[in-house]
Amino acid sequence: MGFCVCSNRCTSGSLPSANPTLQDAYILPGIVLLRYGLKQSVHYNTGIMSHASRAADFLKDDARTDWHNKSLWHVRSKRDALIQHIPEWEAIRQLGSDIKDNVLSNLDVYLEQFEARAKANGVIVHWAADAAEHNEIVHSILEKHKVDRIVKSKSMLTEECHLNPYLEERGIEVIDTDLGERIIQMKNEPPSHIVMPAIHLKKEEIGQLFHEQLNTEKGASDPQYLTEAARQHLREKFLAAKAAITGVNFGIAETGGVVVCTNEGNADMGVHLAPVQIHCMGIEKLIPRAEHLAVFTRLLGRSATGQPITVYTSHHHRPKPGGEMHVVIVDNGRTKQLGREDFRNSLKCIRCGACMNTCPIYRRSGGHSYDHTIPGPIGSILSPGKDLKKHKDLPFASTLCGSCSDVCPVKIDIHEQLYKWRQIVNSEGHMETSKKLPLAGAGNVLSRGGLYNFMGKAARTALKLAPRAMVYNRFNAWGKSRELPEVPEESFKEWYAKNRKENQN
Ligand code: SF4
Repeated sequence: MGFCVCSNRCTSGSLPSANPTLQDAYILPGIVLLRYGLKQSVHYNTGIMSHASRAADFLKDDARTDWHNKSLWHVRSKRDALIQHIPEWEAIRQLGSDIKDNVLSNLDVYLEQFEARAKANGVIVHWAADAAEHNEIVHSILEKHKVDRIVKSKSMLTEECHLNPYLEERGIEVIDTDLGERIIQMKNEPPSHIVMPAIHLKKEEIGQLFHEQLNTEKGASDPQYLTEAARQHLREKFLAAKAAITGVNFGIAETGGVVVCTNEGNADMGVHLAPVQIHCMGIEKLIPRAEHLAVFTRLLGRSATGQPITVYTSHHHRPKPGGEMHVVIVDNGRTKQLGREDFRNSLKCIRCGACMNTCPIYRRSGGHSYDHTIPGPIGSILSPGKDLKKHKDLPFASTLCGSCSDVCPVKIDIHEQLYKWRQIVNSEGHMETSKKLPLAGAGNVLSRGGLYNFMGKAARTALKLAPRAMVYNRFNAWGKSRELPEVPEESFKEWYAKNRKENQN
């Protein structure tokens, strides 16, 4: 199982070439400067740690990095294998993308339709402009019912709103019931992946955690044994909870119902047992009609984990007898993103995580290095929209290889949006000098043919004469695991001009 830095359009997962290209040789001085610059940006002036420095922390554990990379690539490979069985895969992607386009263009209409249908079904609908309002609304519902313990299934929206600490500060016990989420909740960590929140942890670490907190046998790391222990522990929590909170994968405007997809059935268990159910939904989660659901359920499971469908796809349309059902519809910056022409289609995201599984940077830096609720390529588009200064480095956490866009089930042009954010970071004056200078230099050279030829010659000569330590030194991370090829006598351009002439003669 391997790792391809060029582009995952090649699905073989081959190891990266140890031999850099001639272009690498030409821009090597720039790379050296850039690497040096990144090292210097361990802490920004703002005091915020950069993605590069957090990634460097993750990379200190070679074995973990390797295993993390391989685990995610395995999921990506499963996805590739499965979609081979669907000849119309590309057509379904296009359809999913078109439906979401329609939703984004008529969001106001669909939201009102959803609200009206949901209310007619006996659902109580709330609107939250931001995270603070969302948390207040959820808390007020719980307060009204005197709820002091809740179970919650996986919801990136409630992570985004920091609901858990908000409720805990007010004396409410919150238990995450998705196994991965429960593990990281016990460790007091944020999720590192939107579908596999504990993917950065090894089973031995989870065994130790369960030994300390659930009293399992010391040293036990058998996944089945640990899962059973978690199951017994969670069963008690399900039975004691007075309210259940879930995220929403899809809200159907036509019916006013919400659809929740899980592999563990934990959302269903919570909702069916607790008298009060609360579903928290971002405004972009709507689809127009029930018949559209099949398009997205086909895309979601395959893209997320390489399954034909998630194990539980549950529809909630009305409160159960004697119960109460709430839907909290949340904006929290989404309408702002909708208003950004270049970035609006990032709201098509169905949170499958495929762009993370394929991204060579994510796989090698871990989700926590992004310091944002949604990590990886899609997170690097969403986060600068929230706080450009804080997340200015994330659009650069990409090779721009385009693999994320290739796998995205709703055809979001992820790598192009990352490139656009880079331009905005620069034009708004947030680019660090250590990046600005070498990039400006490279831009100058690459836009002038004569200068480019001259610099190429100069670089070839310098590389032949320069002592080895000039390239392979502690400041140049690039040189730590790579060897430059033998420096050629002439550039490809010179070679081509000569050979074309010879061929013409
Ligand atoms: S951007 Fe696309 S690939 Fe990434 S999580 Fe969203 S839907 Fe999945």
